[in-house]
Amino acid sequence: MSVLVFAEISDGKFKKATFEAVSYGRQVADMLGTQVVAIAIGTGADASELSTYGAHVVKTIATGDSFTADAYAAAVNASANEVSAHTIIISNTYTGKSLAPRVAQLMNAALATNVVSLPDTSNGFQVKRSVFSGKAFAFVNLQRSHKVIAITPNSFEIKTFGGSANVENSAIALGASSLNIDSVNKVTGKIPLTEAEVVVSGGRGMKGPENWHMIEELANILGAATACSKPVSDMDWRPHSEHVGQTGITIKPNLYIAIGISGAIQHLAGVSSSKVIVAINKDPEAPFFKAADYGIVGDAFDVLPQLISAAKN
Ligand SMILES: Cc1cc2nc3c(=O)[nH]c(=O)nc-3n(C[C@H](O)[C@H](O)[C@H](O)COP(=O)(O)OP(=O)(O)OC[C@H]3O[C@@H](n4cnc5c(N)ncnc54)[C@H](O)[C@@H]3O)c2cc1C
Repeated sequence: MSVLVFAEISDGKFKKATFEAVSYGRQVADMLGTQVVAIAIGTGADASELSTYGAHVVKTIATGDSFTADAYAAAVNASANEVSAHTIIISNTYTGKSLAPRVAQLMNAALATNVVSLPDTSNGFQVKRSVFSGKAFAFVNLQRSHKVIAITPNSFEIKTFGGSANVENSAIALGASSLNIDSVNKVTGKIPLTEAEVVVSGGRGMKGPENWHMIEELANILGAATACSKPVSDMDWRPHSEHVGQTGITIKPNLYIAIGISGAIQHLAGVSSSKVIVAINKDPEAPFFKAADYGIVGDAFDVLPQLISAAKN
């Protein structure tokens, strides 16, 4: 009985979330006294890299096809059966969000998503989940023999382990999908929002897209990704891929800088788990200040140039 981790590959590389998932899987395997097997589907990534993060075995399925949830879920399920894995770890990335429920259904497994703790096996198999858009935690006991745990990215330290993993080509082939992907338009040349350690975000207080060069300049200096509020993307000032919040992306960076964003509850739903929040707003009563660790009351058009200059220095 082993622990199986889905090792997500994006653009020929393992995602940072994959290292978190493998290192989490290793800790679960150590608790259960078993080994951790990673299943990597795709091409380009160096499978042996996963041994650093605790994998005992890495199985690879080479494919140039884009991700399709049903075909990948079938391959993960078949891999779990092959290595007798009862516990499957998947990172709750975009890919993981569509994969985990399908794997759970195929395995007839108990599924816990948005998991932010290691399991507590002292009384069953309990994990802590983030619920209600990060406003509360639920402690759930997974009652089936097979379990799928989808962990929240950026919630776990990436631990390193010694040893080298056995890397094997899997005998399992990726099957046909019910979907045919005709084309994929990728956002390129940017730090992916969900992986960013620092995010600089702008709201309607930035007045218009012509002022976004300041947000981008600060982000460049800080090595940050850029984000925005919903109205900003609705008005096409910024692409929808940058929209964070209840109806956008949920992020959990180490530092979130919100500029000219009021802090509506729907926005906070996507960013309130950030480790440190800085709000810049000219209205001292802006709700964001209640959620922020640091606040600057001031006009963004005065504050941002000073911040950029300070960050440059
Ligand atoms: C069902 C539903 C889902 C939603 N989902 C989302 C979501 O996912 N994400 C999201 O963001 N919103 C979402 N919204 C919208 C949300 O309720 C708010 O309307 C939105 O977040 C407000 O965006 P904003 O803060 O950029 O704009 P505004 O509310 O207009 O706030 C602008 C802020 O900028 C400040 N400001 C103005 N000028 C300056 C200046 N010169 N310098 C500094 N500060 C300045 C103002 O004081 C104000 O606080 C949702 C709403 C609904 C009903």
